[in-house]
Amino acid sequence: MRRPFVAGNWKMNGSKASADALIAELKPAVASLAAVDIAVCPSAVYIAQVVNAVSGSAIAVGGQNLCDQAGPGAFTGEISAAMLLDLGCRYVIVGHSERRALYGEDDALVAAKFVLAHEAGLVPILCLGELLEERQSGATEAVIARQLDAVLALPGGVRALADNAVIAYEPVWAIGTGLTASPQQAQDVHAFIRQRLQASQAGLGEGVRILYGGSVKADNAGELFAMTDIDGGLIGGASLQANDFAAICLSAVEK
Ligand code: PEP
Repeated sequence: MRRPFVAGNWKMNGSKASADALIAELKPAVASLAAVDIAVCPSAVYIAQVVNAVSGSAIAVGGQNLCDQAGPGAFTGEISAAMLLDLGCRYVIVGHSERRALYGEDDALVAAKFVLAHEAGLVPILCLGELLEERQSGATEAVIARQLDAVLALPGGVRALADNAVIAYEPVWAIGTGLTASPQQAQDVHAFIRQRLQASQAGLGEGVRILYGGSVKADNAGELFAMTDIDGGLIGGASLQANDFAAICLSAVEK
């Protein structure tokens, strides 16, 4: 039995004031949802403040990215896994499509960060997803397989997945667009990911939590999370509104 998990990716949004206000509203709204793991991933500059704000609740905090070098050292502008841990993070998002598309992160770099995060003691959330043209040309499974296999090729990647690492299937065409994969479209890819994990190492398939991300809102979360292989969500825009995010978390409990 996989425990549902909902994580909010705040991206480069917010301010000191809005972060405090969001958490102040979210804490009571999710206080009774003991059956779901909940995390928020603020911009790195607000992590310490948000860790402080969530204290006394079950809400965990994650980073949105990490350096591919363990450090410490001369890596100007970077944030290490150790620093995220030091601030109180439990999770870190790795390989978000915006990192892949806008900052040139390729499969090998993402896989290296994934392993590094786990070995440092963080729980990495590995994002996988195809572009619209890749879906339209029938290449979805090939793209997902390529992205996943980069991690499975590393012994540390398999160890991370066998431990507690999380996967998020996020079709790029559904992120921030208002377009959502249908529950069946999402389920098909989740099942494909699970089969590939299982084929890589017996037992791996059943244990790994696979989240769906891409324009999940309070009104479509329930039908997505009801699918067999969808274990929760990675939420962008809707995680910036406490009520919407809390409603999505409730949908994961009701799975
Ligand atoms: C995301 O960026 O991970 C995401 C899923 O965004 P949105 O929910 O806004 O589509």
